[in-house]
Amino acid sequence: MLRVEGLGIRFGGLHAVKDVTATIPAGQITAIIGPNGAGKSTFFNLISGFYQPTTGRIIFQGQDITRLKTHEVVASGMARTFQTTTIYKELSVLENAMIGHRVRTRAGLLDALLRTGRERRDEQESRDAAMTALTRVGIAAHAARPAGAMTQEGQKRVGIAMALASNPKLLLLDEPAAGMNPEETVSLMALIRELVAGGLTVILVEHKMSLVMSLADHILVLHHGQKISEGVPAQVSRDPAVIEAYLGS
Ligand code: ADP
Ligand code: MG
Repeated sequence: MLRVEGLGIRFGGLHAVKDVTATIPAGQITAIIGPNGAGKSTFFNLISGFYQPTTGRIIFQGQDITRLKTHEVVASGMARTFQTTTIYKELSVLENAMIGHRVRTRAGLLDALLRTGRERRDEQESRDAAMTALTRVGIAAHAARPAGAMTQEGQKRVGIAMALASNPKLLLLDEPAAGMNPEETVSLMALIRELVAGGLTVILVEHKMSLVMSLADHILVLHHGQKISEGVPAQVSRDPAVIEAYLGS
């Protein structure tokens, strides 16, 4: 599904991500874990085109996407959510999901918001894609509500629906359980499992190791920007390098 080779980025003197090589299998849940500041969000920003890497290549479904712009990455079949919720609270749940769809079909988010040159047919296509996405995350009944009136977990689902509205093959979730209570976390994990059972590939970032142990098929551990371990949960949780990194953090 996705392969990164020697991926790295430097901010001044800091190697936020350094020489990461990894293959992400299709149809599975891969978790990127590591202590705070390990480079997890930066890794997402690199593969989703928000940052240009200093070194390395990103191959998605056989295509080199290293130099693509964010909307081109989305158009190629990859969508993401953000660590902090980035929904439009004053807009309806449906409108939020429609923006997620337009990011794929238009030049970018600004264009999506300004509705430049909109035709009825495009509007209907966005609406259909948005409703499908809302159904997938279980909030279709709330389509007309202002997004800001949803619960914390509901707002997370809106964010996921925005990503799904572009109909991605690969979904990137940055700390989906952040700010959720235990019940909400269980419910979100079940949603992620359902999406993967439906054919989606998921990569998620999480700093709490315990959360991903029962969810992930495959785990990649970052520490100080470097990959220090990789494998199935049982392997990774017993890896001395991983235990050391977590104890030291
Ligand atoms: P994580 O998501 O694993 O907690 P991040 O990827 O957010 O870690 O950050 C990794 C390191 O890179 C941190 O030291 C952070 O301060 C730094 N960093 C992240 N983004 C930037 C940026 N845009 N400019 C400068 N430093 C950054
Ligand atoms: Mg982060």
